[in-house]
Amino acid sequence: MVLDSEILDDLLESAADATEQPRSPKGGIPRQFLPKILRNALRCFVLPFVLVDYGMQRVAKWIIRPPYKRVGACKRRGNCCHYILIAKSRTLMGRLFHFWYTQVNGFYPRMKEASIYEGKEMYVMGCRHLKKDGSCGSYRLRPMICRQWPVIEHFGVPKVLKGCGFEVKERQKKKPASGHPKLNILN
Ligand code: SF4
Repeated sequence: MVLDSEILDDLLESAADATEQPRSPKGGIPRQFLPKILRNALRCFVLPFVLVDYGMQRVAKWIIRPPYKRVGACKRRGNCCHYILIAKSRTLMGRLFHFWYTQVNGFYPRMKEASIYEGKEMYVMGCRHLKKDGSCGSYRLRPMICRQWPVIEHFGVPKVLKGCGFEVKERQKKKPASGHPKLNILN
């Protein structure tokens, strides 16, 4: 069963104004079966790759600037961690990613069913590392999806949660260099 996108829109809307975390899923937060020491070892192992990848993405955005830029600063409310959307995929790779997100990174499904968001099936996740005060209990090891928020791409509408300390502003187009105006030469 797939949930209607309106339900998801309502959830994301409620996350913007929430003053506390959403309730845990029915039956409680599921247990991770990988031992903590192994989870942390795996996360430490992939961290350099995550940092290099993230650094490359920043360099690429510095060279080819997206039409929008991020301004402001994180207010540490933690609301952007209330509902994390992870694409549903039945491929082997998709299943491995799901395993990694849930068993290694610490996300857990808030609902059994996937929801439709922007035409794609998505699982709505919560995060075990989100602390009551809204801060991240695993900030240095946080995964890429957390580092990329708010999302500003070269194409498409930027994604930022209402009430977040960050805002998205349109980048000023460069003015043409001053000097002699160009002449239209007519033969
Ligand atoms: S790892 Fe940290 S930043 Fe990422 S969703 Fe969890 S609490 Fe938020």
